[in-house]
Amino acid sequence: MSVARVFLAGVGLLLAAGGCAKESAKAGQTAFKRADGARPNIVLISIDTLRRDHLGCYGYPRATSPRIDQLAAEGAVFENMVSSSSWTLPAHAAMFTGLADSVHGALDITSRLPDDRLTLAERLKAMGYTTVGFFSGPPLYPAYGLGQGFDAYIDCTSYPEVSAQTVATGIAPAGPQFDAARKDVTGPRVYGRVHSWLSDNTARPFFMFIHLWDVHPDFVPPAPYDRMFDPDYTGTATGEGFLTNASVNPTMPKRDLEHIIALYDGEIAWTDLHVGKILDDLETLKLRDSTIVLLLSDHGEEFLEHGSRGHQHTLFDELIRIPLIVRYPGFIPAGRRFAEQARMIDVLSTLLALASAPPPTDVMGQSLAPLFVGRKLAGDTLAISELFSHGQQLRTFRRPQRKFIRDEPSGKAAVLDLVTDPGELAPLHDTSNPLVRAAIRDAEQGTKWLIDFQKIVPRTTAAPQLPDHVRRQLESLGYLRGKDD
Ligand SMILES: [Zn+2]
Repeated sequence: MSVARVFLAGVGLLLAAGGCAKESAKAGQTAFKRADGARPNIVLISIDTLRRDHLGCYGYPRATSPRIDQLAAEGAVFENMVSSSSWTLPAHAAMFTGLADSVHGALDITSRLPDDRLTLAERLKAMGYTTVGFFSGPPLYPAYGLGQGFDAYIDCTSYPEVSAQTVATGIAPAGPQFDAARKDVTGPRVYGRVHSWLSDNTARPFFMFIHLWDVHPDFVPPAPYDRMFDPDYTGTATGEGFLTNASVNPTMPKRDLEHIIALYDGEIAWTDLHVGKILDDLETLKLRDSTIVLLLSDHGEEFLEHGSRGHQHTLFDELIRIPLIVRYPGFIPAGRRFAEQARMIDVLSTLLALASAPPPTDVMGQSLAPLFVGRKLAGDTLAISELFSHGQQLRTFRRPQRKFIRDEPSGKAAVLDLVTDPGELAPLHDTSNPLVRAAIRDAEQGTKWLIDFQKIVPRTTAAPQLPDHVRRQLESLGYLRGKDD
């Protein structure tokens, strides 16, 4: 093991609690070995723009998600899962690399996941997996580097020529392609291709990534999902142009907003149908018991909770708190719910542990698998979320009870008490408040963690630096001394 490797391992355990980290990691490695010695198949389902609190298994009163709820009942549900960002590209890059956004480098739509970042698909391929990805929206285009490690990375949009063009030129698509994407209905196409692949390919084990796009705006679900949750509405509001329609604003009639939310819910039910078809295929092909299914979303959606709509503009919980469900029959106890905070960066290590791979030491996330065998998590669960696009430069440092939020250019910060103020409407600034002081410590710890990783993960031109004032601030706090310190 080289010196650099030892240092990497050290940073990987930076947030570890005491001496139980190695023990838990080891438990994670042996507890999931199959009797036949074979590796499990892995199906990773990412439903774009899906809010956790609009799913039945997270307490939503509408029947938006019967099949996802069934999956949840057969597996484990994480109550506090936090994304790395509030939009698609960086969140998927964190899912695939186990690194925070400012470390993996795919922060903005003009950037891409650098080729030297090691992805989950690349790691699994090296372990002998056949790897296939199905994507259905522009931020997943191969031009953004998310196709790394897939034997086949299959375009399920209705405009594949655009994606092909971005591959040829290496240039990200412009606005009009995103406009086309908002009208696209992709569920049947994604399912059809997944079905064909499963029927035609007998290679085992396989890693299948499935990206479902239809919950993303616009909200125009096909019948009968368009009237499913609001059949009596007689107004004129539609889910078309949700992101640009000026009539969607804080002064709009409440009834119209309710209707738009019902259309969003219709798209969830429509997508749930296709998730169900995929799960049925696993059953029919007798793959259920030998396949890990991990279902999550990349971010949520805002319906004027903080005065705006859509995503990619704040880091409030309606955008960064996401669902996480993991099913692995015989290995993950059915119906378990975990309150521990889980993070997008933990997905990679968790899946590798369930596949009995050695724990990676070059990632920021940790395996959640120890929880499945009654153990504690090895390390800390501080969640860092970042938004460096659309003119925003925001970071949050979140624990289930509190969140520190900082605008990086100005250094302005606030703290939110997530227990007494779950809507995040009453920012706290009083530094004599113990919760504020604890959140400030979270921010200092998290910022140092980012800087340590930015030092050791191979730097490329696509990987951004921290803003100068943050660097200066950390220097004054003694955080930027050499690694020997
Ligand atoms: Zn997204």
